[in-house]
Order: sequence, then C-alpha cells, then structure tokens
Amino acid sequence: MSLIPQFRSLLGDAAVLTEAAAMAPYAEDWRGRYRGNAACVVLPSNTGQVAQVVRACAEARVPLVPQGGNTSLCEGAVPGKGDEGWVVLSLQRMRRIRSVDLANNSMTVDAGCVLAAVQDAAAEQGRQYGVSLGAEGSCQIGGNIATNAGGTGVLRYGNTRDNILGLEVVLPDGRIWSGLNGLRKNNTGLDLKHLFVGSEGTLGVITGATLKLHPLTTAYANAWMAVPTPQAALDVLGLFQQRVGGVLGAYEMMNALQLDIVLAHVENRRAPLAATHPWHVLVELADTGGEDALGEALQEVLRRGLEAGLILDVAVATNRAQRDAWWQVRHSVTEGNKKAGMGIATDPAVPVSAVPAFIERATAAAHAVLPGAPIIIVAHLGDGNVHFIPQASFAQWESWADPHAMASRIKHAVNQVAHELGGTFSAEHGIGQALTGDMAEFKADVELDLMRRIKQLVDPHNLFNPGRLLPSHPR
Ligand SMILES: Cc1cc2nc3c(=O)[nH]c(=O)nc-3n(C[C@H](O)[C@H](O)[C@H](O)COP(=O)(O)OP(=O)(O)OC[C@H]3O[C@@H](n4cnc5c(N)ncnc54)[C@H](O)[C@@H]3O)c2cc1C
Repeated sequence: MSLIPQFRSLLGDAAVLTEAAAMAPYAEDWRGRYRGNAACVVLPSNTGQVAQVVRACAEARVPLVPQGGNTSLCEGAVPGKGDEGWVVLSLQRMRRIRSVDLANNSMTVDAGCVLAAVQDAAAEQGRQYGVSLGAEGSCQIGGNIATNAGGTGVLRYGNTRDNILGLEVVLPDGRIWSGLNGLRKNNTGLDLKHLFVGSEGTLGVITGATLKLHPLTTAYANAWMAVPTPQAALDVLGLFQQRVGGVLGAYEMMNALQLDIVLAHVENRRAPLAATHPWHVLVELADTGGEDALGEALQEVLRRGLEAGLILDVAVATNRAQRDAWWQVRHSVTEGNKKAGMGIATDPAVPVSAVPAFIERATAAAHAVLPGAPIIIVAHLGDGNVHFIPQASFAQWESWADPHAMASRIKHAVNQVAHELGGTFSAEHGIGQALTGDMAEFKADVELDLMRRIKQLVDPHNLFNPGRLLPSHPR
C-alpha cells in the first residue's frame, strides 16, 4: 500500500503495523466469529497525528475504520474480508486525561481512554462518571460515544449521550472540529456533538471528549431477588420506583439459564441464592449519604414484595465484597455466553411495561425458526432493554449450511416482535455490519433518507467505515 511509508514517517515505524500476526487482534471481532483484512493498522498518539492520517487517506481515497477497544458486538470496529486496502485507525495510544474542572463538574479526556480508567480518574477527584458496562476494562470513551453505549447505570445517569458535554472530532477531510466546551447551556443552532454520538465511525474520528461528572456514590444497598415471572420483576420495579425512584441505581434481570451459564463457565462466580429459581433480579440503590436510610428503604420494599408473593427468595448484601461478587456475576454474562455455545444475541428494547409480552412472543418467534432452542435472557429491565439470546450448540452451528443466514433469520424474528410492540431492534450495541438489514426494514424511510444525506455531506467519498450502520442500497 503506497501510504505506508507516509504513515511511517508521520507516526514512526512502531505505530504502523503491517505484519499479519501483529494486525490479527485488530482484525477480529470480540466474539472471534468475524475476521477481516486490512492493509495496515495505525496507532496515532495525538489529534494532530490522527488528522494527518485522515488527510492522507482522503487524498488517496483509502477507506478507514476507527477502532476503540474492539468490544462492540456487531462487527462494526473491524475490517471486512474484502477490505485488504483499508486502514484500521486504533485510538489505543491516546489515553490522556487532559483536564478536570471540578467547579464545572466535568473532565476532558482523550477518546482512547479506557472507560474504567475514566471512572477511576473521576473517583480520585471525589466524583463519578456514570456510564458502566461489562466491557469497561477494555472499551474506550470514543467507542462508547460512537455507539452511544448504555449498560447498567442508565436508570440513574442515562446513556453515554447524556454524559457528554463536548467533543473533538477529526472530520473525513482531515479538519479538526474542536467542540470541547464544557457548556451546559448553548443554544447556538444545531448541537453538532449529537451527530457523532452513535455514528459508529461513519462520520469521523472522535479524538477527545468533555464528560459530565456526578457526585461520587458513597452508599449502596443491594439485593439479589428470585421472582416467579418477568411480570413479577416488573411489579417489584414499580414498588421501588414509587418508594425510592430517585436513588434506584440499577435493576438487572436474568433467567435461570443465564445464571447457570455464568456459574458453569466463568471462574470464581458463586450463586447468590442457595435454591434454584426461574428468574433473578439484581437491584441496587445508590446515593451520596449514609447506608442506613438506603438499607431501610430496600428492606421496606422487599417486605412488600415478599408479602405480595412477587418475590420468592431474596438475599441482601451485607458488605461491599458481596455486592462486588454479585456485580461480577452480572458483568460476566457475555464472557460466559461466549464459552457456552453459539448465542444468537439480540439487543432490542421495548417500553418497560411491554417486557413480559416481548419475552413471551419473542420466545414463540424464535422457536418457530429454531424449535426448542434454549433461550438465554439478560435484561436491563429498568430501561426495557432485553438481551434475548437463542442458543445453538457448537455442533448445531457447524451443521448449518449457512450459519450466519440462520442466525439472521432468528434475530429478525425476534426484532420483528420488538418492532410490533413499539420497540427498537438495537438498544445499545449499535448496527455495525450485523444489523444493516434490520435497519433497512425497520427504520422509517424519512429517517434513512436524512441519515444518508448527512453521511453524503460529511463523508462525500464514503471513506469512513463504509457499509456499516447504513444499508448500502435504498429500499
Ligand atoms: C463483555 C461485554 C459486555 C458489554 N456490555 C455492554 C452493555 O452493557 N452496554 C452496551 O452498550 N454495550 C455493551 N457491550 C458492547 C461494547 O462494549 C460497547 O458497544 C462499547 O461502547 C464499544 O466500545 P469500544 O471502544 O470497544 O468500541 P469498538 O468496538 O472499538 O468500536 C465500536 C464502533 O465505534 C467506532 N469507533 C470506535 N472508536 C471510535 C472513535 N474514537 N471515533 C469514531 N468511531 C469510533 C468503531 O468504528 C465501531 O463502529 C459489551 C461488550 C462486551 C464484550
């Protein structure tokens, strides 16, 4: 590739990878199901270098894919099989906490900062960064913004979009847009930062972000509940919202199969309750004061739930270690599912009140395509996002003539149910390459048309992550 010597002189030899072995981790998706090819991987260490790389690609009309922690689950951060001429632009060397403004409750960081490092940096200042998810030890702030990541803190802090005050972006022509103001009020026309939130690398490289900070949580009260049905879990959620809605930090549900998989496939994970139960909920109350008031409120709601027969069994965390252990169980679901079989993962959201109906109807829809398939369910129930995962064995997957087509049929059947219930087929993981078909089917024409026009305007030569997010051909 003719640009490689230019990249080497811009970035230094060590920051340009061309050997297949060195490039392999950047060319394979997190689940290991999808591997592509690229001409090289470049590792710039500051915004100026990113702009130089992008300008060189623009002049030579070379496509590129921005890559963060490569933890996205929809094949959006890796090159495809026919992408031998592409450049992978990894942000992994851009990890500076640029500044903290405590009076403004904000922090400005390089986009390559790992989410957990940002959380730690905020905590060192006595503040909290509100986004939290299972991949937080590897995913990056830029990737979170590009996918508008959700996770387990959405009830209290919102999605990533709600936690961004400003962005710095290298545009596809190499210009740098410096929008890193920490303003909480700014009514000067369109708020352009939102264009890049959820853009999945199709509109530019996010190189920096100013993030909202919150008071550091100092008090927690947690319970692990067993409930008979998703409807019971929802009814208990209603009790919590009525009594302590303002401090409800998380409300995470999983079915028995999901819990069993974590316990069987991830080391050092223990069952929170002694007996087996069909459905489980991890609830967290979180606040800045002391733990006594939170604990009392938790006990009061649990008592009401038990009396009403909505809760079958419950354990209350008596110390931080127990709380952490339960969160480790919750955060291990994706790792466990990866080892347990071929999970056909979906990411729909429906109105919270429609979750029980969704689970029932989606189960029937999935079984119509793959009769009897075990269904793994793990849900951010508090925000209506249900990871509904029909499972195939490794042998079954290999026996299918076209496993990816089969998986698409199953996902489509599930997503159709979400659509019929007024929901979405992609709540937090994004579209990537995996869901462009659903995008064509379920997104309104007018929305697709506007998105295509924006893409054409910002990236006229279609060099940024082409073929991702938007379906390539109009219906
Ligand atoms: C164990 C596990 C648990 C997870 N749990 C959750 C969860 O609860 N909630 C949730 O929302 N997601 C979850 N995910 C998915 C994933 O972690 C998120 O989508 C995350 O935001 C991706 O960040 P990343 O840095 O890994 O991005 P990548 O995977 O590297 O990239 C994702 C997309 O963003 C683009 N991109 C990356 N960086 C930039 C940049 N700087 N500028 C422009 N575009 C960029 C890429 O081109 C790609 O299209 C989970 C994943 C795993 C493996």
